[in-house]
Amino acid sequence: MSEPTLSVVVPVFDEEAVIDAAFERLRAVLVAMGEPFEILFVDDGSRDSTPAHLERLRAADARVGVVTLSRNFGHQMAISAGMEMARGRAIVVIDADLQDPPEVIPRLVERWRAGADVVYARRIERRGESAFKRGSAAAFYRLLGRLAEVPIPAEAGDFRLVDRRVRDVLVRMPERRRFVRGMVAWTGFRQEAVDYVRDARAAGRSKYSLARMLRLAADALLSFSDRPARWVAGAGAVLFALSCAALVVLAVTAAAPWWWVLAAVAALDGVVLLSLGVVGAYAARIYDEVRGRPPYVVAQSHPPAQAAEGEP
Ligand code: UDP
Ligand code: MG
Repeated sequence: MSEPTLSVVVPVFDEEAVIDAAFERLRAVLVAMGEPFEILFVDDGSRDSTPAHLERLRAADARVGVVTLSRNFGHQMAISAGMEMARGRAIVVIDADLQDPPEVIPRLVERWRAGADVVYARRIERRGESAFKRGSAAAFYRLLGRLAEVPIPAEAGDFRLVDRRVRDVLVRMPERRRFVRGMVAWTGFRQEAVDYVRDARAAGRSKYSLARMLRLAADALLSFSDRPARWVAGAGAVLFALSCAALVVLAVTAAAPWWWVLAAVAALDGVVLLSLGVVGAYAARIYDEVRGRPPYVVAQSHPPAQAAEGEP
C-alpha cells in the first residue's frame, strides 16, 4: 500500500443532502490532478442518513476512509480526527457542503510544491451568507488578530493545505480545546495564502448556530491569548492608581466626606479587579497544563482500503 500524495479530510455532520454531490466533485478534481490521493470523511456524530452514505462511498471507492466519532464533538475535533488518520505528504481540509470549491485544491497543491508548508485559502468574497455572519466574522477576525500571540490570518477558515510535518506537529499538540486555524498558525513554517470566492452552501443548512460561533470565538481567544486576564489586571491597576491620586487630591483640598468614600470604594474596586486578573492569569496557565481527557473519541476507524493512482 503506497502512501498517497494527498489526503483530503472532510468533516461531516448531518450532511445527507450534499455529501454525495460533494464527493463526486471532489473526486473529479483529485482524479484530474493525476496524483495518488485518499479522501477521509470524519462523521462527527451525524444523526441523519450520512453514515449510510459514507459507507456506500467507502464500499465503492477504495481511496475513501471513514472515521466515526462516538458523538458530535464539533467541527474542530472532526478535523483533528481526520488529520490523525491522514497519511498523505500533504493534507487538505475542506468542508462537506461545497462552500469551499474543490477546484481550488490544485492551486493549494501548486503553492505547496513551490515550497510552502501551509497554504490557506483566503475568502475574498462570501456568497450566500447573511450580513450578520459576514459582519460577526469580520469583527471576530479583527479582535483575534489584535489579541493572539501568533498572527492568525483573517478571512481564512479551515480550508487549507498543510504539509505532513505540520500535520505531525498538530497531531502531537494535545490541547482539548482545539482551534485548528490558530494551531496551524502557531506551528510556524512557511505559510502562504491563496484567494478564492466562498460559495453558498450547495444544500442543507449551516450547523454553526450563533451559540456555536460564540463558543468557537471564545475558545480561540482564550486558547491563544491570556490578554483578557491581563486587561482586567491592567484596568484594576489603573483604577487603583487613579483612586489613590484622587484621595491625595481630596486630602489636600479638604473635600466633602462622601467624595472620600467614593474614592476609597473605587480604590478597593481597583484592588479587586487586579486580583481577579492575577487569578485569571494563573487559571490560564493551569488550563494550559491540565489536559487529562482525550479531545475526542473515535468509535470506528476505517482507513482507505488502498491509495490508488488516478482512476480506480
Ligand atoms: N461540521 C462538523 N461538526 C459540527 C458542525 C459542522 O463536522 O459539529 C462540519 C459540517 O458538516 C461542514 C463543516 O463542518 O462540513 C462546516 O460546517 P458548516 O457548513 O455547518 O459551517 P459554516 O460553513 O456555516 O460556518
Ligand atoms: Mg458551510
